[in-house]
Amino acid sequence: EGMDEDVQQLVERRQKVMGGAYRLFYREPVHLVRGRGARLWDAAGREYIDMYNNVASLGHCHPAVIEAVTAQMSQLNTHTRYLHETVVDYTERLLETFPAAIDRAMYMCTGSEANDLAIRVAQQYTGARGIIVTSEAYHGTSALTSGASPALGSGQPLAPEVRAVPAPDTYREGADAGARFARDVRAAAADLAAHGHGTAALLIDSILSSDGVLPGPRGMLGAAAAEVRAAGGIVIADEVQPGFGRTGDTFWGFERHALDPEIVTLGKPMGNGMPVSGLVARGDVLAAFSDDLPYFNTFGGNPVSMAAASAVLRVLQEERLMEHSARIGGQLLESLSTLADRHELVGDVRGAGLFIGFELVEDRTTKAPARTAALQVIEELRRRGVLTSVAGPYGNVLKLRPPLAFQESDIAPVVAALDDSLRVVEH
Ligand code: PMP
Repeated sequence: EGMDEDVQQLVERRQKVMGGAYRLFYREPVHLVRGRGARLWDAAGREYIDMYNNVASLGHCHPAVIEAVTAQMSQLNTHTRYLHETVVDYTERLLETFPAAIDRAMYMCTGSEANDLAIRVAQQYTGARGIIVTSEAYHGTSALTSGASPALGSGQPLAPEVRAVPAPDTYREGADAGARFARDVRAAAADLAAHGHGTAALLIDSILSSDGVLPGPRGMLGAAAAEVRAAGGIVIADEVQPGFGRTGDTFWGFERHALDPEIVTLGKPMGNGMPVSGLVARGDVLAAFSDDLPYFNTFGGNPVSMAAASAVLRVLQEERLMEHSARIGGQLLESLSTLADRHELVGDVRGAGLFIGFELVEDRTTKAPARTAALQVIEELRRRGVLTSVAGPYGNVLKLRPPLAFQESDIAPVVAALDDSLRVVEH
């Protein structure tokens, strides 16, 4: 089967003018033209279930977001050097979702900018430079954040003041994972001290998405947070992936793990696709930065973006989508787990809410990662109208993270497609 001619042409035109840094999913890339809820359609009219996208968190083209953005865009869009009610209203409502100590918020357009500022604030507040991350972490694309993103690979060396520690993985390490992680964080802090950097922060995504989706038992990250504080650092919870109800039983991922962060960064689902991100923090921590330095982000906190963010928060709360994520995510996890009875390739199925890792292994005893099989399964799923991708240090974990518009009736077709795909790949 050759590549669709239109797709081929678009790939070539794109490569010619946009270059190599832009990577595409799939051997035959997907050309999407329309979306609704958890469904997507390509240029040839083929329908897909989106199992990958937590950005369009309420669902693709959610009417409440379209309406809010359209109304505000028709009225005015400006920046935060003028007064505007929407940004203040939204901030008051957003802060209500956090523990009381977290009482300030600032806005940007991307997760990278939020983490970049978080690192600067942590360094300013602690007077130290060192940052500890997990060893497959991705935190952004700026100079500071890409230097703290080992997931980018050997082409992007870590910054001298960054230390990477393997994420706690209870499937491979057993119940000791959280304690082992804490010991490694302590050693990293000692090494940072020995090199004169000191420890400014542990920067961590509590669902450990790019480390392979490792929800772990509740509280797993608490001991590591204590080690960082003992070394004089603070905790930055990167909620770009787990935030806004995604993980089901808590609105923020850090709450599952008792991280008690001083700074929290927000992104992806915040505007349902509008580029909106944020940093929320304890006022005293933020003051160390904001007392000395102004912060102006041309597009950050603009009324149109804030209208989108307001609509997202309202719909999440009114439609109780966190509870939906817990319920449907639990059902999906259970159905996916039954595939382990029929397919030797399935090593582990784990998740929190609608954020599930489905790990493939060549051998259940040695747990040897089945990387090639995982890539084949992704291609087979695409042929069956299910879009997703892989994560983790071995690239063998399917990341299942649909828009929260995913319904109970979507479970059976997804599980059937995965069942078929596994059967094809096994033979
Ligand atoms: N943090 C995490 C955990 C992420 O997954 C990402 C994006 N994949 C980012 C930060 C960076 O966000 P952005 O692409 O919006 O800059």
